[in-house]
Amino acid sequence: MIDSRMVSAENHGSVATSPFVPGIMLSQTVPTIRDTPGASIKTLLKALKTFPYRAVHALDIVDPIERAEFGAIVRERGLWLDFCVSRALGNDKLSPASADPSNRRRAVDMVCEMIVRGVGQGARYVSLSSGTGHRDARDRPDAIGRLAESLAKIYATIRAAATPGSPELGLLIEPMDVELDKRGTLGYAPEAIELVRALGAPDADVRLICDTAHLSLNGETPDSIVHAAELVATVHLCNCCVDPGNELFGDKHIRPGDPGVFDLEAFRRIIDGIEPVFAQSGSVIPVFIEYRNHGDPDEHLSYLAESFARVLVPR
Ligand SMILES: [Zn+2]
Repeated sequence: MIDSRMVSAENHGSVATSPFVPGIMLSQTVPTIRDTPGASIKTLLKALKTFPYRAVHALDIVDPIERAEFGAIVRERGLWLDFCVSRALGNDKLSPASADPSNRRRAVDMVCEMIVRGVGQGARYVSLSSGTGHRDARDRPDAIGRLAESLAKIYATIRAAATPGSPELGLLIEPMDVELDKRGTLGYAPEAIELVRALGAPDADVRLICDTAHLSLNGETPDSIVHAAELVATVHLCNCCVDPGNELFGDKHIRPGDPGVFDLEAFRRIIDGIEPVFAQSGSVIPVFIEYRNHGDPDEHLSYLAESFARVLVPR
């Protein structure tokens, strides 16, 4: 008979106790995915053949038939889905933190209308990044206030969409870099933590994304945010270049390694470091390697599969 404690000890505890599950970001493998009919399902099915992914990050699927089929696959396979509306907002230059009330209202209306799509697509979370809403740093606190107001309305609509007996549905927020590249409204980790607490978290299902590139560009580390692990629902392992003289400077979702600050070994050390904290929170935490493909989607998927085998392996 196998002693389960021994198996667990041999595997360094990560098989039995790791809270982390691998996730695939479809829009990084096929950047044009939102405008390419059929590509979301095709890419998801291909990805699932290359690695046992348990989580997916997907943009909204415009075609209702493809959306329903995608939702059926997500539910059948028990996948955790981050339904991301940031691209849709960005394409229409809308921001929930905008100083222009009409822009802000349209942003909130757009997200609220998309929640139904998210439910159909099998979403566990509806996610958005903070967007911009300020001209310079002095305006940022006001912009965070406007963002909080917009998010409260969006979360109320999410609650109304979640009927008793239906799958859980929450709101996920991705803090961006504040000063160097994307110049998002939100924000440094303490501001992000304060914001989701103000929205009622952890009782309210409003959570944060821990993205290594945004943190790094803000001069922070994952420790800045995972000390509040109960407020973090997912991790993006994303590389970034912090040398302003380099053409790849900023949040460009570059491949792990030079000229960025993180290679696969660094990602693995981050995972090792935050694993005990998340293990205590008792939640399953999807981890995504966020690297934007500029070539063949098949090669990108094999690269990600090999990378996950090094970063999230039983060790
Ligand atoms: Zn990210």
